[in-house]
Amino acid sequence: MAELEKILENLKKENVFNRLFEIEIRETVLDNIPEKYSEFKKQKLIFINEKILGRSVIFNLSRKKRPQPLQEIQKQEKDPFCNYQTETPVDELGRLENETSATASNLSKMADYHSLIIFKKHNFDDLKENDFLSALSLSQDWFEKIKNYDEKIKTQILIWNHHFRSGASILHPHFQILAYKNVPLKVSELKEKLENYQKNFGTNYFDDYFNLMRKVDLAREKYGLKIWVSLTPEKEKGFNFYGDLFKGAKFLWETLQKLIQTGTQSFNLFYLLDLNYGFFVDRGEINKLNSDFGALEVFGIKIISSDPAELGKILFQ
Ligand SMILES: [Zn+2]
Repeated sequence: MAELEKILENLKKENVFNRLFEIEIRETVLDNIPEKYSEFKKQKLIFINEKILGRSVIFNLSRKKRPQPLQEIQKQEKDPFCNYQTETPVDELGRLENETSATASNLSKMADYHSLIIFKKHNFDDLKENDFLSALSLSQDWFEKIKNYDEKIKTQILIWNHHFRSGASILHPHFQILAYKNVPLKVSELKEKLENYQKNFGTNYFDDYFNLMRKVDLAREKYGLKIWVSLTPEKEKGFNFYGDLFKGAKFLWETLQKLIQTGTQSFNLFYLLDLNYGFFVDRGEINKLNSDFGALEVFGIKIISSDPAELGKILFQ
């Protein structure tokens, strides 16, 4: 935990840090534990609260060492997306398509308009930068066209759930593209908090957070996209991004590659077009049998066993 503590020590000197966060570090000592668990004897708990958006995280790196139940992973050699032309329905706009991806209507909706961007490659491991960039470009096309199709659309979201642990039911890589005629409460609450921040401090919350993390080398900007390590991730290895994703897609791809090369196997990616804001969260090893979300997470307190400072090294060094 030394790395994160060092980072927090440096950050505490910054006014913006104290505006955004409150932290507390406490150590707990387990006496009389069997010898085989001796590495759990001393544990450090780092409590981080993000005050502007209202997020709570408890870091305890020793939780990573807990033995985990494992399972065999079911493979999907064939699925409806392999033959999207005949096995998936078209959406309101008809079939949009380019060299690496095509749209389809999602079978079971989570929004007024809910479609898929299906990669033409079946295997996630075969995806190259161009596949990603052109699939994102097709998404952008869909978002523009659907807005012209229905002028009442107020909220647009792009998500990528990769692998079963992230919530995906089909392994074949695909984005989900959502358009709402309303503003979901979570989105309007977020907007309100950001507007209040701008009003109170005269600066943009995401810019301030990014600049703060850049001071401790946990942030980078490339192609107009700002990416920084989150101090209150939704789960392990979380980062935020801010900017036009469609312009800065190459930077996001490069960042994803660094994570995949260092062991990330399943993840959620979320991008809210209206705010140019998104986040990434690693959902753990694919053969883990138990969920990474327990009761505290359902309640909204995140329990994290990975060090954001280590993540910074993976992403930015
Ligand atoms: Zn497939």
